[in-house]
Formats: sequence, C-alpha cells, structure tokens
Amino acid sequence: MADLASLTQEALAEVAACGDLGALEDVRVRWLGKKGTLTEQLKALGGLSAAERPAAGARINEAKEKVQAAIEAHRSALALASLERQLASGRIDVTLPGRGEEQGGLHPVTRARLRIETLFTRAGFDVASGPEIEDDFHNFGALNFTENHPARAMHDTFYFPDGRLLRTHTSPVQIRALQAQGAPLFVIAPGRVYRCDSDMTHSPMFHQLEGLAVDENISFANMKAVLHGFLQAFFERDLAMRLRPSFFPFTEPSAEVDMSCVFCEGRGCRVCKHTGWLEIAGCGMVHPNVLQASGVDPERYTGYAFGAGIDRLAMLRYGVNDLRLFFDNDLRFLRQFRAFGA
Ligand SMILES: [Zn+2]
Repeated sequence: MADLASLTQEALAEVAACGDLGALEDVRVRWLGKKGTLTEQLKALGGLSAAERPAAGARINEAKEKVQAAIEAHRSALALASLERQLASGRIDVTLPGRGEEQGGLHPVTRARLRIETLFTRAGFDVASGPEIEDDFHNFGALNFTENHPARAMHDTFYFPDGRLLRTHTSPVQIRALQAQGAPLFVIAPGRVYRCDSDMTHSPMFHQLEGLAVDENISFANMKAVLHGFLQAFFERDLAMRLRPSFFPFTEPSAEVDMSCVFCEGRGCRVCKHTGWLEIAGCGMVHPNVLQASGVDPERYTGYAFGAGIDRLAMLRYGVNDLRLFFDNDLRFLRQFRAFGA
C-alpha cells in the first residue's frame, strides 16, 4: 500500500504523455481496466485486517478517481486539439484569387436570334412564338397548302402516328397570332423547325425567322423597305438587295430575297458561287385565303410575310461555312464567339 502514491504519479505521468486518443485508451485499460494496476490493488485488501480495510479501500478509490479525472481532462484536450487541426486544414482563404472559372458565352445562333429580335422590336414588331408540334391545319391547311399540294412533299415532314407533325416552318405562328390578336398585327416569330434533311447546309432541326405585318394599306414596297433595312442593320453595312419572283402557297405575289454577297461585296466568290448574290429569305404579300382562314377580312386588310433561316444569317454574319458546326457543341468552336458583341 505504501507505493500507492508513486503508482498514482506514474499513472498521471503516462496520461500526460499520451499524444492521441488511442494511446490514452491503452493507458486507461492498463491502470483502471479490470486487470489494471490500480484495480489490482483492491484485491490486496483481502490481506488486510478488517480495521485497516475501509481506509485503504478509500485511498485506492481516491487514486483511481484522480487518474480517471486526469484521463477525462486529457481526452477533452486531445479532442479539442484534433478539432482545431481539422479546422485549420480545411480553412478557406476567401481572399485568394479564384480558380480561373471561365466566362460562358451565348451560342452563335442565340446571339443572332437576339440581335434579330432587338432590330425588329425597334421597328415596332412584337416577338411571337408557337408550338413545335403542330397539326396539319396550322402547318399546311390554313397556309393555303391544299390537300395533295405538291409543296407539301417538298417539306420532308416528320409525322407522328396520330397525324400531328413537327412544324416544318415558323409560318403556323402567323395563323396562331392572327387568330389570337387579329389585325392590325406586326410580329416576328423566331424558332426551331424540323425537316428530314441533313448535309453541309441542312440540318433536321434548324432555326427560322418568320415575319408578318397585317394592317390597312400594307404594300409590297413596305415589305421591301423593312427587309432591306433589316439586312443592312443586321450585317452593319450597305448592301444591295433584289427580289426575284417565286412561289409560296401562302403569299401572292411571292419573291426570293437576294442580298449582295457579304464576303466579296458583289464581285463574286466561292460562297456566292461567283454570282455576287446570296439568297437570304422568301417573302410575299399574304394570300387572301390565309387571312380568311385566320378570321381577318381580306377586303379590308393586306399584309406581307417573310421567312429567313436564322442559322444562315448567323453563318454569314460570323463567317461559318458548315451549318453542322452550330449543333456539334464543340467547345473549341463555341468559345470563339465569347468575344463577339451581339
Ligand atoms: Zn461572294
């Protein structure tokens, strides 16, 4: 019993020397466990007289409690130190510069579309939209494509089993806008259209711009002025424009719109096939049947409509020679447009 004090000192020294929670647990077991050195001391009580036993027992328990308390204190200290180490290693210095997050950019077709919307909105047009899954009436019937009209075959339409279809042009928005708002009406409708066709200049999904102006006294000359003004604003340069007679079921008279080549300025190059002209849109005066089908009085109102490929406008503006580049989503291609303005 005489060495109890020194045993306690030894135990406390070992506790103090522990560097981690595992070592501390080992020390606890060695001193206070079932077969621990201090626990073993209690067994020696049996050899003492009844008079000595209580006092000796109390001293042993006191020693055990002292060591237990030291272990608890040391355990808390170790846990706190470990938490502090964790916090220190996970600390974020918010004043450090970022990791070079790249600035994104709008897709060139989106840029072209937004630019078109801005220019036409400035000219007094609203932006309209319609469903991409259409019915035969809006995509063909109301646009004067009669049953078995040969122009239907030219559209390479994707049909659903129930007879609905993926719209082949944005012209059905004309019908929907006229039906919803009536005349007078000035709208453009940019959007996705679908045809079963794919090569360097055709994609099964592409973007079209539809324009429609219906009011009293709307003339062919109004249309020519608006289209010419738009092309010059879109390409930011003086351009010549010419109209060639054409045919669309929903306009009469109809015309193809050519503009002087933006690459050679009319001198002739590979892009314009050495003609100096680029075909850029189709247009015409809205057919009276179309106005009638949309509930607008063709005796009172006239209108013009035009359609152009947004992808083609973007290709010409940004000098892209393959339409498919727009839809491959190759970042090396798309990144080049970050620096562009609208
Ligand atoms: Zn050219």
